[in-house]
Amino acid sequence: DQSRATAAHGGAIGMHGIKKWFGNFQAVDDVSLEIRPNEFFTLLGPSGCGKTTLLRMIAGFEMPTEGSIRLDGTEIASLLPNQRPVNTVFQNYALFPHLTVAENIGFGLKMLGRPKAEIAATVAEMIKLVHLEGRGGDPVTQLSGGQQQRVALARALAPRPKVLLLDEPLSALDLKLRKSMQIELKRLQSETGITFVFVTHDQEEALTMSDRIAVMSHGKVRQVGEPWEIYDRPAERFVADFIGDTNFLDVDVVAIEGERARVRLASGAEIPATFPADIRPAGKVTIVIRPEHARAVSTGLSPATPQSVPLSGTVHDVVYLGTDTHFHVRLEDGTNFMVRQQNARSGPCGFAVGDPVGIELSDDVAQILRD
Ligand code: ATP
Repeated sequence: DQSRATAAHGGAIGMHGIKKWFGNFQAVDDVSLEIRPNEFFTLLGPSGCGKTTLLRMIAGFEMPTEGSIRLDGTEIASLLPNQRPVNTVFQNYALFPHLTVAENIGFGLKMLGRPKAEIAATVAEMIKLVHLEGRGGDPVTQLSGGQQQRVALARALAPRPKVLLLDEPLSALDLKLRKSMQIELKRLQSETGITFVFVTHDQEEALTMSDRIAVMSHGKVRQVGEPWEIYDRPAERFVADFIGDTNFLDVDVVAIEGERARVRLASGAEIPATFPADIRPAGKVTIVIRPEHARAVSTGLSPATPQSVPLSGTVHDVVYLGTDTHFHVRLEDGTNFMVRQQNARSGPCGFAVGDPVGIELSDDVAQILRD
């Protein structure tokens, strides 16, 4: 298998107590992360949270003010970029416009002084890996944006780095192309076995591609986990909010039963709630419930109890989205609550602005947030 021949051993990255100051501005604030070999790892966060700075420190373009960076156990923080078995793909590809596809892909290998025959073999292998067969002799300027991005990827993979750093590499592409490149990147990562560290501010992109995600804000890592953990078990409000649509409710903890807490809503209904492993919730806490885990129902049809219909209120907005409809409900205590329901083909879903509704919850949908 040609593509398997590229299988390098993906590197493990250990970052400990990383701080980065630019003058008197702190861009990275005491970050520690373990990135595993062969992992597709994503740094996710809003603009300015420090993710690019972290990536540039792994690459060697920036030095940490404090802290250590190890690759497979060896300290690399003081090595020059070209001394590290690490390569970077940037958003703006930075291809050489006067060179062909093959010359671009082989450029790094030529600089390293590799023998001609070896360069030709690697370039052929890379062209196959990124599905650009037959285009090796074309000037890169004749390629589409998506194809140019593949050339940039092939060029970065050609020297067989242990780690590939990708800084928002898809953000210049239109939505359709971006979606197909997401799948492509994921395939390249698993076929090569190279550790990918990917930077994005797009939560959907992060959830789609990553083995694990670190969510960052204000220079700090807020949570690290698999996509489902980041989405379904957010540890704090920032993470819950950044990753998707949310409903926050203030509740009272009644009891802890193993890995669940039992919490009481304003209506008196009690529901189970998961919580971050490092806290033992008590007293008043905030829970988050995703809109797709709730369902609006007519009031007054059956003798509803708070336990069967734990929330109720009035519809104040209806947003039709094709696949789903969003109902914005004002609860009796004035809190806003969003319900997302899948649409059937039988016409608009039943509620209008001003309708009183009850809200049913699926089983085990609540997550307690850290203060
Ligand atoms: P973006 O997605 O916008 O690139 P980011 O999360 O990658 O955001 P960084 O580029 O890491 O953020 O920047 C973090 C903060 O550090 C920003 O406030 C930025 O202005 C600042 N910063 C980055 N590089 C420098 C520098 N060389 N000098 C001064 N400040 C810098």
